[in-house]
Amino acid sequence: MTLVNAETSLETQRSYIDGRYVDSTSGETFETTYPATNRVICSIEQAGEAEIDAAVASAQRGFEVWSAMTATERGRILMRAVAILRDRNDELAYLDTLDTGKPVAETTTEDIVTGADVIEFYAGLADKLHGETIDFPGHGFARMRREPLGVCVGIGAWNYPMQIAMWKSGLALACGNSMIFKPAEVTPLSATKLAEIYSEAGVPDGVFNVVHGDARVGQALVQHPGVSKVSLTGEAATGKIVMSEAAKTLKKVTLELGGKSPIIIFDDADIESARNAALTNNFYSTGQVCSNGTRVFVQRGIYEEFLAGMAERVNAIPVGDPFDPETLIGPLVSAEHHDKVMRYMKLAIDSGARHVCGGEVPQDPELVGGNYVTPAVFADATDDMVFVREEVFGPLMAVLPFDTEEEVIARANDTPYGLSGAVFTSDFARANRVANSIEAGSVWINDYNYLPASVPFGGYKHSGVGRENGANAIEHYTQVKMIYSTLVPVERYM
Ligand code: NDP
Repeated sequence: MTLVNAETSLETQRSYIDGRYVDSTSGETFETTYPATNRVICSIEQAGEAEIDAAVASAQRGFEVWSAMTATERGRILMRAVAILRDRNDELAYLDTLDTGKPVAETTTEDIVTGADVIEFYAGLADKLHGETIDFPGHGFARMRREPLGVCVGIGAWNYPMQIAMWKSGLALACGNSMIFKPAEVTPLSATKLAEIYSEAGVPDGVFNVVHGDARVGQALVQHPGVSKVSLTGEAATGKIVMSEAAKTLKKVTLELGGKSPIIIFDDADIESARNAALTNNFYSTGQVCSNGTRVFVQRGIYEEFLAGMAERVNAIPVGDPFDPETLIGPLVSAEHHDKVMRYMKLAIDSGARHVCGGEVPQDPELVGGNYVTPAVFADATDDMVFVREEVFGPLMAVLPFDTEEEVIARANDTPYGLSGAVFTSDFARANRVANSIEAGSVWINDYNYLPASVPFGGYKHSGVGRENGANAIEHYTQVKMIYSTLVPVERYM
């Protein structure tokens, strides 16, 4: 594959099952568009019932082969996939840029890189997953065996198409499972490339299948009796549906859902560092990041200083062509999502919050056909405003003043979400007190969104169930069996 560009059109995309591309029997297709112009890139064949059944049957066969291999062998094959992924970093990144509109400045340095990091982490862990033995002197011993779950389903969101597929499959496969992955309908292009790379690396047929389609395909996979586990990345509302559907067949679930995370900045913080964190973690990926810190609480003593020069700085962020290496903010993923974000921009304007900058559709003739919006900052926001309470998933930063530590902790936690949070202060004890009190799966002190592969990621409250990344996420992809061996005869009791 060569590097794609803004003009690229691709042939019709098909599902990848049992080590090859297959035609769909559904007779239905859908289209994916380039977000910077909204032109159609290609059609995608929606998987029908026959392909879903075939994907499950193939994944069951794949599981038999894969789980019977030694963990060292599995780890070695996954390491080969990591090497290929790193080799093809830019072409894969460009494909995600074409599909998502995210700038190449991000996709070439973050999306594939961090996905490969996670597969590498689990490839290294594969042969270190052991059970344990519990001794009962004079009687026997229990051998606890860690076993894979079987066929796992991964359902992806559209904001990190390749990275989500890599995070989910690296973990599932290293534990000895097989996986069927359904990419989001608006970003279907890269997941099958991952499947090709796994095949090239030596992953047996059926161990990683990709099926295309809309929510009906996701639903059919969640309901399928041949599937043991579902891992979804998506909105909290989708998470609730998936969890209740999975409950009907008692499938295990991992849910990576939305957020409305706080960044708390105290008077004694390094203001420039805190400002950098707030800006990057509101506007990176055009604000389409689940763990972004979209509620920025700033203590009253530095409030105006924090906002000083903010408009000039935000207005200078390069918005434009995602294939231009200088661009830092590209278009939103789809026209539909653009409409949603613009509704929130209007709500913010009407809310009475102080409009510092942005939130407009750029009038540059080169950008008018795309899903562009300029990054926006609203100050003097209050906790009850709709754009402060709901996940916008766009470049909209709310700045809220606060007075005391106790007050800001209560306000930061006053949300159904609990994905992430951060505290900026030079007071060590306070930093840790506040970090302990934030109800979220990831909290940073004087930093934000630093997510190495070895660290677990996931949400509290409505932001999720289970964890991805880090060693303890294997608990969510394995089960423990107890095998008891006695050293003495069974006594007569009756
Ligand atoms: P959605 O919840 O709309 O969709 C996620 C996936 O679920 C898509 O593949 C979608 O298919 C599929 N789906 C939708 N309905 C069902 C159903 N009933 N059964 C099974 N599958 C279904 O999320 P978005 O794609 O809009 O992604 C944005 C959301 O993802 C945000 O809320 C964001 O915060 C969250 N997110 C969370 C992350 C985390 O790790 N915590 C990371 C990244 C994003 P289709 O595309 O066809 O609709």
